Amino acid sequence: MALIVQKYGGSSVADSDSIKRVAKRIIDTKRAGNDIAVVVSAMGDTTDDLIDQAMDVDSNPPAREMDMLMTAGERISMSLLAMSIHAQGEHAHSFTGSQAGFMTDARYGAAHIRHVHPQRVMKALDRGEVGIVAGFQGVNADGDATTLGRGGSDTSAVALAVALNADVCEIYTDVDGVFTADPRIVPTARRIARISYEEMLEMAAGGSKVLALRCVEYAQRFRMPIHVRSSFSHRPGTLIMPDDVDVDKIPNLETGQLPDRPAAHTDRQRDMTEGRS
Ligand code: ASP
Ligand code: MG
Repeated sequence: MALIVQKYGGSSVADSDSIKRVAKRIIDTKRAGNDIAVVVSAMGDTTDDLIDQAMDVDSNPPAREMDMLMTAGERISMSLLAMSIHAQGEHAHSFTGSQAGFMTDARYGAAHIRHVHPQRVMKALDRGEVGIVAGFQGVNADGDATTLGRGGSDTSAVALAVALNADVCEIYTDVDGVFTADPRIVPTARRIARISYEEMLEMAAGGSKVLALRCVEYAQRFRMPIHVRSSFSHRPGTLIMPDDVDVDKIPNLETGQLPDRPAAHTDRQRDMTEGRS
């Protein structure tokens, strides 16, 4: 049995029908014999809408209140996704960043993850439930909600995957992986089947918007394989992983055998502090 962390971006959960579709995909992966923890972004343009609402009442809002507001978006998607999974016959339990143990520093709007203590998520998985975690958010030492910066749910997903000792972190988006150019603009762009962390970092630094830079750095540091793929198709996506690891160690490629999970749910304590400050 494999442990898979799946992250669904805002375009994959933009409305009720999309949430139902994603719930079905999660259930299918679970019924294939995997443990699943999910990180979810806010629905569609919710985060931008929340910022507009803030600006309507205060052109210079206090940073703490801004993060209180911004974390609301992911609360909506996480609870609706849990309900949709429930409606389709499986159990799910949603968690805010704080409940999922995402401890951050105090920089509102640009917080860095210090540690992830996902005990409650592990317990949900042990009960046979899908654990759903709000992306892009954590809690500081004062107990106040923080956000990681725009696009931060990718980093949340990799950090959760590392903390749970998952076999792979799947990042679902609206394109079939990482391409040589933006396939929505350049029709001859080719999908890259496998790429190293170093090359992916170069692409991210060069303006590729597929993955947040911090997310790739975090994955590289902990050698966490990432599979970027589309939530709208079942085609293979792009694997970002260490050069010396075999592709058949990666579960849920829809190509056959699932490897056994070694030391599951490790409580090995690691320094999760993000590299850059
Ligand atoms: N919802 C947040 C944003 O739009 C986080 C994310 O989507 O990763 O930036
Ligand atoms: Mg978003």
